[in-house]
Amino acid sequence: MSLRWIDTHNHLFVFKEKEQVELVSQAKEKGYAGALICAGGVENFELARQCAIRTGLSYAVGLHPMYLRDRWQEDLKELEVFLEKHAEDPYLAAIGECGLDSSEAYRSNLAIQERVLSEQMKMSKRYGLPLSLHGRQAMDLLLKYMRRLAPLKGVVHAFNGSPNQAQRFMDFGFKLGFGGAASYDGSKRIRKTLAELPEDAWVLETDCPDIPPDWRRDANKDNPMSLPVDLAAYGQIAAELRGISEEAACDQALKNSLEVFPRLLINDLP
Ligand SMILES: [Zn+2]
Repeated sequence: MSLRWIDTHNHLFVFKEKEQVELVSQAKEKGYAGALICAGGVENFELARQCAIRTGLSYAVGLHPMYLRDRWQEDLKELEVFLEKHAEDPYLAAIGECGLDSSEAYRSNLAIQERVLSEQMKMSKRYGLPLSLHGRQAMDLLLKYMRRLAPLKGVVHAFNGSPNQAQRFMDFGFKLGFGGAASYDGSKRIRKTLAELPEDAWVLETDCPDIPPDWRRDANKDNPMSLPVDLAAYGQIAAELRGISEEAACDQALKNSLEVFPRLLINDLP
């Protein structure tokens, strides 16, 4: 078995230490060779770092737009202190999860979200770390900041924008992340986008434990989760949609992941 799949976005640190290790070793049997564990708040930075060291994976630190606090200015300073301190950390591979969320519950602080995002984009340039971006009902606004602060590099995770927006992100050199949502029959637009994107534009992600795949929504109705072990199945879905072999899909996704996250650690597999 030579397939090596890369999970460009997850939150594995939310599990207990023992579970983190078990989930990754179980997934390695199915080709799980690398991942970016994304923290979304100051209180998670060290948890994500420890989780990365424990599992041999990579991590990112950032301020998530849905979890901004009143003390966001101090949090930005703490982020910068962390980045300064860990600039040479071989496990640190990106800044994220950060971005914009203008869905109803979060719209009211959009102006602050924008300030926090643009500061993180500046840090991305200062520290040479690509971005793992969250964008909900805010694609055009994200594009505005990309234009303003270009050149930047990164992934728009769980992409669900239009083909036109996809093209504009690609024009800025960004890649688009796909995972659990591509397994739903109802996700027509996401599946069509994944089927038709140029080969250098897409990467895979589990967003574990969020965005459960179709088969886990049915199996565990109370608490459906996306798990590292699901990544290989997302790769198969991508291959099927794109009409290419699993090997070809795996090669493309691996190449694209390393292009955008060059510091990502790749593990030997059993
Ligand atoms: Zn996420």
